[in-house]
Amino acid sequence: MEAFISSLTARLSPASKVLQDTTTSEFKTSLARWSDIDVRVPYAIVQPAGEQDIVSTVQEAVKAGIPFVPASGGHSPWSTVGQEDIVIDLSRYKGVSLHPETNEATVKGGTLMKELEVALHPYKRFAAVGNGNTVGVIPYYIGGGISIYTPLISYGSGNLIAARLVNAKGELVHVSETENSELLWALRGAGQFFGLVTEITIKTYPYSLLGNEEGQRICGTYVFLPQQIDEVYAAVEKVIQNDQYASAGHFMVMQAPPELKQQVLFVALQVFCSSDEAVKLFQPLVDVGPLQQAIMPSTSDKHSDQLDWVCAKGDFKRFTQNGLPDWNRDNIKTLARLHAELVDNCPDAARSAYNLEWHSPRKLQRRPAETAFGHASVDYWLNVLIWYTDAKNHGYVDAMDKKAQAATRAGTNEADFVSYTNTSRDDPLEYRYKGTERIAKLKALKAKHDPTGVFTKQLL
Ligand SMILES: Cc1cc2nc3c(=O)[nH]c(=O)nc-3n(C[C@H](O)[C@H](O)[C@H](O)COP(=O)(O)OP(=O)(O)OC[C@H]3O[C@@H](n4cnc5c(N)ncnc54)[C@H](O)[C@@H]3O)c2cc1C
Repeated sequence: MEAFISSLTARLSPASKVLQDTTTSEFKTSLARWSDIDVRVPYAIVQPAGEQDIVSTVQEAVKAGIPFVPASGGHSPWSTVGQEDIVIDLSRYKGVSLHPETNEATVKGGTLMKELEVALHPYKRFAAVGNGNTVGVIPYYIGGGISIYTPLISYGSGNLIAARLVNAKGELVHVSETENSELLWALRGAGQFFGLVTEITIKTYPYSLLGNEEGQRICGTYVFLPQQIDEVYAAVEKVIQNDQYASAGHFMVMQAPPELKQQVLFVALQVFCSSDEAVKLFQPLVDVGPLQQAIMPSTSDKHSDQLDWVCAKGDFKRFTQNGLPDWNRDNIKTLARLHAELVDNCPDAARSAYNLEWHSPRKLQRRPAETAFGHASVDYWLNVLIWYTDAKNHGYVDAMDKKAQAATRAGTNEADFVSYTNTSRDDPLEYRYKGTERIAKLKALKAKHDPTGVFTKQLL
C-alpha cells in the first residue's frame, strides 16, 4: 500500500492531497457523511485537484489492484470503504461554466447542488436540481435526478448531454450523442456503475419558464393537525389536478419542532405561475385552517435553503425513495399511523419524516429519450427519512422503513414496483431499472466496460 501511495504522490499536482492521518480535522471533515450508518475508515483519502490528478489516481489504483470509491457530497451510504481501500474525494475539483451559445452548463467533479444553483442565477437560468444544498451534482444526475422542476423539464438524467469519465482501465473517455453514445445512455441513470465521471454537461432553462415575469418559483408551506388529514388531502389534490399550472410538492408527516412532541402534517408545495395565481390556487389549503402558513417566492439560487437542517452530517439516517403509481389518500393515513408507531417506540427518531412527493401529471412537456433511468413517467414518490441517534435501534428502524415501503406498495403488482436508483442498491434490479430489455442492455454494457467490477459489482 505504501508503494502505491508514493507512486501516486509522485504523479499528483502540488494542489492535490493524500490524507492518511485519521486524527486530523481534514481527514475527519472529508470522511463526514450525511449518515453515520456503516461509515468505514479507508487506508487513505486522495483529494485530486485537477482532472489529470483524477485520471492518475484511478490509473494507479487499477494498476495496484486497490479498490476505491469516488465521493462527492457524501449523501449516499456508498462513498466510504474499508482499511485496505481508498476514497477519491472530489471536493478539490469543482466548477460550473455556462456556455453562452448553447446555454448548456458544464459541471466539474465534486460540485454541490447549491454551487450549481448559485452559478446559474446571474444568468437567470436553472437546471434540474435535488432538494439538498450539499448533495453532489454529478451523482444526482447520473443516478436519476428527481427534481421539483421535473413537471417542467423532466428528470436530471434526461438533461444530461455529455460527460467525461475515467473508465475501468483508467482511460479518460468523452461521452456524448456522437462519441461513445452507448455510455451516454448508461450514464443517464446508472452512471455510478460505469466510471468516475469528472464532468457533465447539462441543459439549463430560462427563469421565464417558471411561469412568471420574475422567474420565481412560488412556494407555499402549511402546517396542519393530523385530524385534518381528509380536508388537507382534498385541498392538495385540487392543486395537483389543476390543469392550468404545473406543481410539485411534498405532503409530509413529521413531528412539530422544537419539542418534537406533536405529529403534524406539513405541506410544502410550489406552483409555476404568478404570485396572484398561486394565492388563488393555495386558497383551499388556507380554507382548511392551517396552524401556520407562509408563501415564499424563491429563485433557484435559494432552492433548498429551507432544508439545510436535513442535510446536516452525522447521526444515523436512512433515506428511501420508491415510485408510486398514483396519489392515494390511504397512503397518507398509513404513513401517519406508521410514523406515530416509529416515534412512540423509538423517541430518538422524532426528527423522522415520511412523505409523499408529487410532480403534477400531464404537464410534462419533455419526456426524455429512452435512457438507463426507467422512471421518467413516475409522478409520485414515497420518501422515507428516518433520523435517529441510538445504535440499538438499527434493526427496528430498518424494519419500520421496510414496513412503510410495503404498506404503500400494497395493491400494486410487483412488476410495477419502483425503487429509486439513487437511494437503493439492495432492491431487485427489476424494481430499479424497468423492463427486461433495459436490464439486459445495462448488463451487457457493464460486462463490456467494467467486467471486473472496478465501479461496484452492480449489474455483473
Ligand atoms: C438530504 C437528501 C436529499 C436528497 N434529495 C434528493 C432529491 O431531491 N432528488 C434526488 O434525485 N435525490 C436526492 N437525494 C439522493 C441523492 O441524489 C443521492 O444520494 C446522490 O447519490 C448523493 O450524491 P452525493 O454526491 O451527495 O453522495 P456520495 O455518497 O458522495 O456519492 C454517491 C454515489 O456516487 C458515487 N460517486 C460520487 N461521485 C462520483 C463521480 N464523480 N462519478 C461516479 N460516481 C460518483 C459514490 O461513490 C457513491 O456511490 C437526496 C439525498 C439526501 C440524503
